[in-house]
Amino acid sequence: MALFNSPGNAKYSMYRNIEYSYSCDESCCDDYCRCGVICDVTFQTGLNAVSAFMDCAYVGPKDALSMSLANWFCKQNVDRITWKWTAEGGYYGEELESVTIEDDGDFFLRATEFEKLSTKQKVEHLLMVEYKSVLESVSKVHNWHVVKVPVKKIFGSANKNLGVKTLGHYTSNIQSGAHHTWVEKFVKQNAILCLPDVDGNFKLIDGRHRLTAIQAMDVKNKKKGRTMVYVICPSAVGGKGLK
Ligand SMILES: [Zn+2]
Repeated sequence: MALFNSPGNAKYSMYRNIEYSYSCDESCCDDYCRCGVICDVTFQTGLNAVSAFMDCAYVGPKDALSMSLANWFCKQNVDRITWKWTAEGGYYGEELESVTIEDDGDFFLRATEFEKLSTKQKVEHLLMVEYKSVLESVSKVHNWHVVKVPVKKIFGSANKNLGVKTLGHYTSNIQSGAHHTWVEKFVKQNAILCLPDVDGNFKLIDGRHRLTAIQAMDVKNKKKGRTMVYVICPSAVGGKGLK
């Protein structure tokens, strides 16, 4: 089962901005101007591209573990893709007709290779790409699952140097007033990676930006510390894993 399919037409997901040019003459503006010609389309990049691409191209299993690992793979690879666009004439001038892949930069080949790996191998591969090394304590883990944990149980060195932009992306995606089910979906497919710590707590391995965003949000929670976080952790801890 493939993890990603090439989106047939990703115009509603992948474009970020459309620029029009106008060559109006006096006769054009009887009611509405219909002279707009699309001259440039820019596409989502970085974390925005990850969310958009997951929405239009992810066809793999929908459990939190599969989705979070696929999302992580996307973070590392989605910007390899080059997009192209076409326009068509509409009543009010040109409209975007299609956004399709011009060159996938081996995204799908890499996705197929990634898909063949076991969960253990996927985690190690992603960490290797991210940090060029895998902690010995991580490579000792044979299987991973996802559990929901209150944020107060997760410990990681606070990162004071986070770019406002990066943190802002997570924070705005989590609390933009987006519909609850959408937020749930976003958090579910952005599970952070942890190892067990003492007293039933968790030690953060990957996902500092997300944890920092969730901690910032938790400050506003009446029941402080109880905002729930999806955590990828060894199958031996945290009780029964989530589907
Ligand atoms: Zn006009």
